[in-house]
Amino acid sequence: MMDPLEAIRRAGRIASNVRERIRSRIDAGVRIIQICEDVEGWIRELGGQPAFPCNVDIDHVAAHYTSPPQDPMTVPEGSLVKVDLGVHVEGYIADTATTVCLDPRYEVLVEAAEEALEEAIRSIRAGVRASEIGGIIERAMKRRGAAPIRNLTGHRMARYLVHAGEAIPNIPAPHLHRLRAGDLYAVEPFATLPEASGEVVDGPPGNIYIFKKKKSLSGEMAREMLRTIQSEYRTLPFAYRWVARRFPGPEGERAFVELVSSRCLYSYPQLLERSCRPVAQAEHSLIVTEDGCEVITA
Ligand code: MN
Ligand code: MN
Repeated sequence: MMDPLEAIRRAGRIASNVRERIRSRIDAGVRIIQICEDVEGWIRELGGQPAFPCNVDIDHVAAHYTSPPQDPMTVPEGSLVKVDLGVHVEGYIADTATTVCLDPRYEVLVEAAEEALEEAIRSIRAGVRASEIGGIIERAMKRRGAAPIRNLTGHRMARYLVHAGEAIPNIPAPHLHRLRAGDLYAVEPFATLPEASGEVVDGPPGNIYIFKKKKSLSGEMAREMLRTIQSEYRTLPFAYRWVARRFPGPEGERAFVELVSSRCLYSYPQLLERSCRPVAQAEHSLIVTEDGCEVITA
């Protein structure tokens, strides 16, 4: 087994390499499923595993969309395209995101998210309160003429856990915990227009699932599918695309429907900006140190 710090750093290097590589491939007309499969394929080629499905979120979709099998959707002209990707090495996770802007009018949102992220990172060290970081993010956004999404946050991560409890808000919310040296966090400001509602609401399913609990199942294939999901993805989110590749055809589809309807799996909804305004995102993962932090996805 690898040293945890070495595994986290390795995951971080893979994540930043893949993030920068995919940026140059994103343009109007490109298929969303191509973006997802390039990202996930490159992660595996570089010796990592996806920690969750590659999210490609367009315009007012803030988070949690990945392509279903044979997704016909393409990147629209003039859209704001967020790519959010996660890599794990032996369960140690790096989570990072970037926004490609195909409409110069929304460039300000990308700059606001990136600048807020940079300022947040400069403020992080052991002992800082999460609410203080939220205040810094909100102020940086406002200075740029943007507004944060109030109900999306960064998060602490642990082995095989993308969300391990403590949050880092994007507003000075009363999250009173202090960051501790050695903790691994993802920080992710989401920027929208000042006239937007500034909140996300649940939308349709985003084709992303996570194991919830074991239940008695009628179908033999459903039972085998659940065993595969538990051993392959453990407590990490996964794509229906990945399961359909292992269990193809209508029989596999029926088994998957059984797992979802019997609530063995949780289906993540897409998160949509309530007033349908465009959203930009920037995200890095970092390890808190006594006098600062080490950004692992730089
Ligand atoms: Mn992310
Ligand atoms: Mn995250």
